[in-house]
Amino acid sequence: MSRPPRRRAPDAVHIGAHVSTRGGILTAFDRALALGAEAVQVHPTPPQTWRRLHLEAEEVQEFRARLTSTGLGDFFLHAVYLINLGTPRPELLASSEASLVHYLQMANELGAAGVIFHPGSHLGQGFENVLEQIGTTMRRALEAAPGAARLLVENSAGAGANLGATLPEIRRMLEAVDSPRVGLCLDTAHAFTSGWQLTTEEGLASALADFEAEIGWDRLWAIHANDSKAPFGSNRDRHENIGEGEIGSEAFARMLADPRLRRPPWILEVPGEERQGPDRANVDRLRKLAGLSPLEPL
Ligand SMILES: [Zn+2]
Ligand SMILES: [Zn+2]
Repeated sequence: MSRPPRRRAPDAVHIGAHVSTRGGILTAFDRALALGAEAVQVHPTPPQTWRRLHLEAEEVQEFRARLTSTGLGDFFLHAVYLINLGTPRPELLASSEASLVHYLQMANELGAAGVIFHPGSHLGQGFENVLEQIGTTMRRALEAAPGAARLLVENSAGAGANLGATLPEIRRMLEAVDSPRVGLCLDTAHAFTSGWQLTTEEGLASALADFEAEIGWDRLWAIHANDSKAPFGSNRDRHENIGEGEIGSEAFARMLADPRLRRPPWILEVPGEERQGPDRANVDRLRKLAGLSPLEPL
């Protein structure tokens, strides 16, 4: 059964959410529509395991049909958390690469927009010493899964030796891959605790100027919209509901008013009012801060 795609203003930002795939990847569509989401992210496999997902041909066909009928073209797969491109262990690096290939192939097959992943940690080896390995591994993964699906590096909060907490580091990782299919997913909570002063007008302006100089807007393909339970500059990764954390509603409204930040989809990964994950309340709150009215649940 198909529904007509929702109509949106051409310049309207897409507000979406991470949803569960319990019961199969196709179930994500109804969950997203129930939240009033216009973009989706899922873990197609349990993110703490290397388990693989086998998709039946009918499932792929149905998935592609629903992408079109729901208008949820901003559909992202979030890679597993075990991946570490900065590891000194060859077996872990090989598993990480194989997992990225599997996910990129899955995204290609499904027609999903891309795969978002955490690059990992250099574990004390130093960024310079793992940069080439990171670039080579991402490039090999993309080459092994030719197609339209993109690979999105997510910025980290910068705890310990985690990779990708600074813009120069992200830029150098993207340069090391040198592919038009590689870009960035910007997590607002990680950005805030890694030193982006999002709560003031000047702080945001300076962060965006740095972003423009280091990365460029053509590489920003998704935003993880999370308030932060952890304070500014703490390098900790603790998501909070929109408006209930250290970033706050005013800062989100300011970010959502910036045309450069309205282009990529905003995907919530917040705990939710019931602590069951992103919910209707957070979607509506973010829509309101973006100047949009709530969507009728379908
Ligand atoms: Zn993530
Ligand atoms: Zn996080």
